[in-house]
Amino acid sequence: MRACFLALASLLIASVAAAQSPALDARVDQELPSLVSTYKALHAAPELSHHEDKTAALLAHELHGFGYEVTEHVGKYPNPEWQGHGIVAVMKNGAGPTVLVRADMDALPVEEQTGLPYASHVHTKNDAGVDVGVMHACGHDIHVTTLIGTGKLLAAMKDQWHGTLVLIGQPSEETIDGARAMLADGLYSRIPKPDYALALHDSADLEVGKIAYTPGYAAASSTSVDVILRGRGAHGSRPEVSKDPIVLAAEFVMAIQTIVSRENSPFDPAVVTVGSIHGGTKYNIIPDDVHLQLTIRTYKEEVRQHILASLDRIAKGIALAGGVPEDRAPIVKASETEVTPAMYNDPPLTEREVSALKRGLGADNVVEKPAIMGSEDFGQFGLEGHKIPTFMFNVGAIDLDRIANSQKTGVPLPSLHSSLFWPVPEPTIRTGVKAMTVAALELMKK
Ligand SMILES: [Zn+2]
Ligand SMILES: [Zn+2]
Repeated sequence: MRACFLALASLLIASVAAAQSPALDARVDQELPSLVSTYKALHAAPELSHHEDKTAALLAHELHGFGYEVTEHVGKYPNPEWQGHGIVAVMKNGAGPTVLVRADMDALPVEEQTGLPYASHVHTKNDAGVDVGVMHACGHDIHVTTLIGTGKLLAAMKDQWHGTLVLIGQPSEETIDGARAMLADGLYSRIPKPDYALALHDSADLEVGKIAYTPGYAAASSTSVDVILRGRGAHGSRPEVSKDPIVLAAEFVMAIQTIVSRENSPFDPAVVTVGSIHGGTKYNIIPDDVHLQLTIRTYKEEVRQHILASLDRIAKGIALAGGVPEDRAPIVKASETEVTPAMYNDPPLTEREVSALKRGLGADNVVEKPAIMGSEDFGQFGLEGHKIPTFMFNVGAIDLDRIANSQKTGVPLPSLHSSLFWPVPEPTIRTGVKAMTVAALELMKK
């Protein structure tokens, strides 16, 4: 009995070791030095959303070199001044499923403060003509590098899978209009429509070597809203002849706090944030109007619609109460371009991939995490109504020392989008490439 148990145990250990694929580890390790140097080059040369031309060219060049059929400049924006820098790389390998793997490529208007030897010193003019520092503060350079690594490995392992692999370099994730721009440019009529879509994102609080996932709704929908509260300007000393939009704006900002707290079910997560408020030019002038920029986050579409209707109602009600004439009524406008639906991880696909990732990386290295109110436009590749199953997971990017130090001191780690955020290149890329290769092979293996 005991001998039998021991035999069984050693068999189990052997099968776990095999599943953790030392062969794949060796392949990834072999590629790492060149991937890390590509990453550092990308990190030092970040490009803003809608302007990813050099990053896209590098990705296209690499994937073409591995034997992919590459199409460049995919993406059509409503703004004709922006060029689509999307990359589509296809490798056909007989009959079988079509799997899409996506990496986003854009950086942020953030002045890097990490002091790293490969830090970005890039400055550019943003679309408003203002000089800004540019930084890969969300780690999309990790994603591009990981796609290069995964693309190379899967091309070299063609005998182990079948089907069609579609690698996507997506522009403009930070402005959440890049995935839509690629689809609007006929992506799914130019390539076989995928059966599955996969993506990863680095994590600013997860330890290197680990993967995290959320089944079902994983990230919220995001809608940018412009509000213009119009009044009647006057001399600052003559409020009686004005309709003061600054006071209306103050009332509006406080009144909309009740949408989530009083109008919305506590079981439906929602956020209403005013991120920008601008009005007036000088101490003694009551301005004509005040402009506000808001972001709305929800999981459910009906909650989003309710919030938009409430913003409109409250703005109009405040203007009415303030005696603003009807022809100066507030304007509340939800953006048609800065909007993305909630990101949904298809539960059966998630379950299948989590089992594969646990076998590939070790069960302890794959952890479940709660959903976030952040947003991500990768879900767009799943089409409306989640027609194509999608799965996105996080890759740990922070060394244990920094995590332990943050826990000891209580000082939070720099978040994504912080000028101080930095992923540890080698282990983050190693885990990202391995995990994405495992995830794609799970769906396409022979
Ligand atoms: Zn970001
Ligand atoms: Zn990001």
